[in-house]
Amino acid sequence: HILDLKDPSLLTGSAYINGARFKGDKVFAVTNPATGEELAQVANMGVAELSAAIDAAHAAQKPWAARTGKDRAAILRRWHDLILANVEDLAQILTAEMGKPLAEAKGEIAYGAAYVEWFAEEAKRVYGDTIPGHMPDKRIIVLKQPVGVVGAITPWNFPNAMLARKIAPALAAGCTMVARPSELTPLSALALGVLAERAGIPAGVLNIVPGLDAAGMGAELCANPKVAKISFTGSTRVGKILMRQGAETIKKLSLELGGNAPFIVFDDADIDAAVEGAMVAKFRNNGQTCVCANRIYVQSGVYDAFAEKLAARVAAMSVGNGLTDPVQVGPLINTAALAKVEDHIADALAHGATVATGGARHELGGTFFHPTVLTGMTPEMKISREETFGPVAPIYRFETEDKAIALANASEFGLAGYFYARDLSRVWRVAEALETGMVGVNTGLISTEVAPFGGIKQSGLGREGSHYGLDDYLEIKYMCLSV
Ligand code: ADP
Repeated sequence: HILDLKDPSLLTGSAYINGARFKGDKVFAVTNPATGEELAQVANMGVAELSAAIDAAHAAQKPWAARTGKDRAAILRRWHDLILANVEDLAQILTAEMGKPLAEAKGEIAYGAAYVEWFAEEAKRVYGDTIPGHMPDKRIIVLKQPVGVVGAITPWNFPNAMLARKIAPALAAGCTMVARPSELTPLSALALGVLAERAGIPAGVLNIVPGLDAAGMGAELCANPKVAKISFTGSTRVGKILMRQGAETIKKLSLELGGNAPFIVFDDADIDAAVEGAMVAKFRNNGQTCVCANRIYVQSGVYDAFAEKLAARVAAMSVGNGLTDPVQVGPLINTAALAKVEDHIADALAHGATVATGGARHELGGTFFHPTVLTGMTPEMKISREETFGPVAPIYRFETEDKAIALANASEFGLAGYFYARDLSRVWRVAEALETGMVGVNTGLISTEVAPFGGIKQSGLGREGSHYGLDDYLEIKYMCLSV
């Protein structure tokens, strides 16, 4: 086998339901996008098994919530420590099923674990409130209680972290969870389940149910009255389906959906720093993140210098198999992703853009693609409206600050935005004007467990991380006491 795991039991294709492992006779194959090689046969669970997992999570929820915050915190902390103790193995599994370079996979494991640590700490601080009564004999007390059973649906681009940052706040708050990971990358999720069990997370509190029937399983999570909330990370298209389906039982919703992040470079910016920031904001995870810079707007005075420097940096990036070689860029997740990248580039070229570097499939074949810079971009091109989710940096020229803001906000999405500038009044003005949930000012990397991650407009509902992140898993109950 190509994986060299210290603990081979972390690589499992069995579902994890009510503290037990199930394989069943129906399975599906998970393959390495860099080689096409099969990594594991994974249990193909359906609506019946999912429903059993929901029952288990429902039965486990009240006892889990009845424990002290300190108790839940200690268990989550043990899970965090186990994740970090196994970072090498978890990173190998992640790279093998998803394709990102090993160094990035290790970074993701640490990033996911940081949410577990953060919410382990927060578990002890689910504070309520007291409010002076409205009548002399009245006292008002605000309690915070777990919402109940949470259904989580996660994508393939961060198979560990997107799940960890849902499980951690849910369990800290006293909720239990049924998680359905992406069918492309279930192995990282199942490995997290193995470590959760070892950490002492009780049977039924966390269930991980892989399966190919995404639509059927999503519909069951939305329809089942025992599920109180859906937490989803993925496309806006599927987010809308879940919202519609959840309406019938008024599901609480946390949705981390698509983005189309603007990245603006003003004349007064530090150009070298802006190039550095663009490299990170665009090419991390091969451009396959929802906060990736998708539209790079550069002011006239620095346009040529910026484009030239960025193209030189991008042309020097190394591409290859992230498991065996110390590369900066791995393969795209699948042929559909490759086709979208090619379509976006072809559309831009047809409308007058120019390839500054890249623009074609890589000699390695498969879904490898040359990191690309396009110049001469205009608003009518597809990339201006749609998330590319690939290694394409499209550069647009603008003249005035007002125009840059108008272009940046001309999107139905509002997840992340970035800009580089040094004038303090401009920094404040632009940060306030951008219609996004997150703004990176003079930085291309904004994700951290200590800050509230989330979007506005059609990029979603709710926040993950920070003390705000716990609220998504808590209900408010107010008690009016007559004395
Ligand atoms: P991406 O473009 O990141 O693959 P998707 O929204 O298609 O985004 O996928 C995110 C997750 O949603 C994956 O786990 C996928 O299997 C799941 N999914 C896809 N379609 C549905 C659906 N109709 N209902 C529920 N989940 C779905």
